[in-house]
Amino acid sequence: MSEPLVVIGNGMAAARFAEELSSRALGRYAVAVVGAEPRLAYNRVLLSSVLAGEVASSDIELKPPGWWRDRGITLRYGCRATAIDTRARTIDVADGRPLPFSKLVFATGSQPIRPAISGMALPGVITFRDINDIWTIWHRAGAGDRVVVIGGGLLGLEAAYGLAKAGARVTVLHLMDRLMERQLDARAAVMLQRAVEAMNIEVILNADTAEIGGQHRVEGVTLKDGRTIEADAVVVAIGIRPNADLARDAGVAVKRGIVVDDALETNVAGIHAIGECAEHRGICYGLVEPAHEQARVLADRLAGRNARYSGSVLATNLKVSGVSVFSAGDFLASDDTDEIVLTDPGRGVYKKLVIAQGHLAGVVLFGDTADGLWYLDLIRSGTDIETIRDDLAFGRAMAERTCAASRLAA
Ligand SMILES: Cc1cc2nc3c(=O)[nH]c(=O)nc-3n(C[C@H](O)[C@H](O)[C@H](O)COP(=O)(O)OP(=O)(O)OC[C@H]3O[C@@H](n4cnc5c(N)ncnc54)[C@H](O)[C@@H]3O)c2cc1C
Repeated sequence: MSEPLVVIGNGMAAARFAEELSSRALGRYAVAVVGAEPRLAYNRVLLSSVLAGEVASSDIELKPPGWWRDRGITLRYGCRATAIDTRARTIDVADGRPLPFSKLVFATGSQPIRPAISGMALPGVITFRDINDIWTIWHRAGAGDRVVVIGGGLLGLEAAYGLAKAGARVTVLHLMDRLMERQLDARAAVMLQRAVEAMNIEVILNADTAEIGGQHRVEGVTLKDGRTIEADAVVVAIGIRPNADLARDAGVAVKRGIVVDDALETNVAGIHAIGECAEHRGICYGLVEPAHEQARVLADRLAGRNARYSGSVLATNLKVSGVSVFSAGDFLASDDTDEIVLTDPGRGVYKKLVIAQGHLAGVVLFGDTADGLWYLDLIRSGTDIETIRDDLAFGRAMAERTCAASRLAA
């Protein structure tokens, strides 16, 4: 008989895990997916493009209903898992129908951080995480409306772009002294700020929000330095927090996220976590690629193979049309690293490559990101780049030509 395996969460990690597992061990497990969102798993990454009107919300579903059916996966979406009994191996579900399990996979993702400031509960204060948030944003902020986006990271900027494209008058408030400071160095951040401002989006740096004001709905945001920015809506995009309370309440070890080892297993045997809810070697990843890698490794293990997860190299790509930004790896140079910089302010191009002990360790690209994935491959594979070092900044084509020429000469 098939072993009952339950996945909690119907997001991107869950969908990829279901795909990987069914391609390796179809029939070995009776798989059920419990999901709080009332729809099939969709590509959350594309929500920014949906907000910008570049992709229809109906086009982001990851797999059609028949795909799940054909693999015999039971879907219980639109209902939340509310409690887990790790001894009895059962899960309480909000629809009142508990589920038994032998193996359990947490894939509960994250939720937006809501700062503890007054006014957060006012109508017109919106987060940016799921399809419902997009509908709320469309409902609350249209052409001509003044919208404040709190947060100048990837999500905040993509929200600002989508809103500006829809005709809203947008101001981005960012606590730090440069945009996307976790992905960009200072020079790229300045170039990005110029490009964002050229889209009529106002950027205020070093902006520490004191409160969101309004009588019955949002009217403005006040900063700690006393300035107030008027607003009809406020989008809060200051970061995410793993959804780990359900695991913690069940006695599963949780720090920031649900703690897993290299086998993606928690402190409770047979209970695993993948995606944004998981914390591996002290890191909670907030991107989809690590979630996919974890899904693949866990599927391998549950199919009886001896795979291990040892962490992911992060790469970020800003989805703002006309503004090409890519960053990956350790892009902040240190005393032990070399830095190769190519900059052409006239063309708005900036490339910084960080070399550590003959290997590419990190990259920041602005304006020309065509070779981003190639650089990422070099970082991930740990390729020795000494033979192509002189051409590295000029891109893949040039570096590969040099390689071919030196092979011929040898
Ligand atoms: C607007 C936007 C743009 C993004 N752009 C990028 C990008 O360009 N590149 C990138 O790499 N990443 C991007 N991300 C992040 C990426 O979407 C996430 O890393 C990815 O979705 C993580 O997958 P996950 O399955 O861990 O979490 P999620 O996709 O969030 O799925 C978790 C699911 O679990 C459900 N759930 C939670 N608790 C329960 C419960 N108790 N019971 C049942 N269900 C539950 C949630 O409702 C949710 O549906 C973006 C995210 C957003 C919001």
